[in-house]
Amino acid sequence: MIAPWVERVFYLLAAVLFIAGLKRLQSPETARLGNRISATGMLIAIVVTFLSSGTVTYGTIIAGLITGGLIGLVMAKTVKMTSMPQMVALLNGAGGGSSLLVASAEFLHVESRGIAPSVDVAITTQLGVLIGAVTLTGSLIAFAKLQELMTGRPITFPAQKTFNAAIFAVIIALAAWLVAAPTAPVWAFYVVVGLALLLGVLLVIPIGGADMPVVIALLNSYSGIAAAMTGFVIRNEVLIVSGALVGSSGIILSQIMCKAMNRSLANVLFGAFGATSSASGKSAAGLTVKETNIEEAALQLAYAQQVIVVPGYGLAVAQAQHQVRELMDLIEKRGGVVKFAIHPVAGRMPGHMNVLLAEANIPYDKLLDMDDVNPEFERTDVALVIGANDVVNPAARNDPSSPIHGMPILNADYAKRIIVMKRGMSAGFAGIENELFYDAKTQMLFGDAKGTLSKLVAEVKQV
Ligand code: NDP
Repeated sequence: MIAPWVERVFYLLAAVLFIAGLKRLQSPETARLGNRISATGMLIAIVVTFLSSGTVTYGTIIAGLITGGLIGLVMAKTVKMTSMPQMVALLNGAGGGSSLLVASAEFLHVESRGIAPSVDVAITTQLGVLIGAVTLTGSLIAFAKLQELMTGRPITFPAQKTFNAAIFAVIIALAAWLVAAPTAPVWAFYVVVGLALLLGVLLVIPIGGADMPVVIALLNSYSGIAAAMTGFVIRNEVLIVSGALVGSSGIILSQIMCKAMNRSLANVLFGAFGATSSASGKSAAGLTVKETNIEEAALQLAYAQQVIVVPGYGLAVAQAQHQVRELMDLIEKRGGVVKFAIHPVAGRMPGHMNVLLAEANIPYDKLLDMDDVNPEFERTDVALVIGANDVVNPAARNDPSSPIHGMPILNADYAKRIIVMKRGMSAGFAGIENELFYDAKTQMLFGDAKGTLSKLVAEVKQV
């Protein structure tokens, strides 16, 4: 057992470390350090909590830390970058599930002893249960969609929103009863838990698989709010602080992602994006694309004064970041300038392209944000689009009927020439045609990005 003031001091230290760590996540250069600082804060918080509760022995603490630490280590080492959203979904689910269990245990413990908790504890217990349960099942559905264990398309049924609203109303009514009347029967509590678990499923099934990263950021926020509520229930300050940090950062991230896709959060949550493929803008019937080959593309790149690489999801799938770095080095050795255009929602998670390119040690000052790079395209000889699709689709600018109309895009079509590297003519995340591929200035270089880039590198060396 440690004295309460010692516990408070360490909790304060942990909270400061969380905030200092979060601050460093702002830039890829400091992100690793930020992660370590926050993890240290978490270690301090866990150890101090166990020591101060006095209910567990050192053996239990060490066994828990080693088991949890090993599982985390294996997951972090083995997960593919493109599967990161699924992993975060599972971690959010675990967070929500823990809050559900802690709040439920506290409720049942108090209930079995026939004591009436204070109103604030009673309210936060119900909120911890409700939000924790929704986060748990919502995250599991998000995981299943992203892992393709179930259909990624929105699942809708008639009067879905009314049905969900009715379930929510029943949960609120029963939870209010449990708060107001501590003698209320315990079955009401189990109904709240069951309906909240069901609500998590119902809220996430109508959301298209590709919108899932936004939903995951939102569920991450929910898991934080649930943890903060649980912090009030068990009177643990560090849980309240860390939960509030996760809750607010998750909601900010969801907003940033929605803004970059020009969608409202309500549209992501209730719009069933991608439910009907007929809503997918213009078709390219009758148009043909111009194909190029490695030799021709290598010549254009070798003699270009400025090349802007537009990386997208396909680059991440192909894991071709090292090959793109090699190509950059070769072009620069010949006197050309290479820049990278980073769209805020390129790939499948925020910062996806930055992390990917950083892995290949591409200098950060070569990665330009959309607003900085867009004026550059007009004076660029070649825009090299690698596995990107929606983020360079001019329909976002020109076609009011397009589902992505209004989304800010990278102006690759303003470059003097455009080379698009992808495997075939498949659509991207939004499931729509891209008129850029049919542009008179565009040449398609078909093939897996990694293989094609390796061949391009070999060819540029020969020029
Ligand atoms: P897209 O999903 O629009 O397109 C990716 C393209 O890559 C596909 O058309 C595919 O074509 C091609 N591709 C796939 N595998 C390979 C490969 N091995 N080699 C070469 N090409 C390949 O990607 P963008 O990055 O342009 O856009 C991201 C989309 O994801 C946006 O619509 C965004 O709104 C959405 N999104 C992003 C989030 C984020 O946080 N970043 C979150 C949620 C959604 P083909 O199969 O023919 O090769």
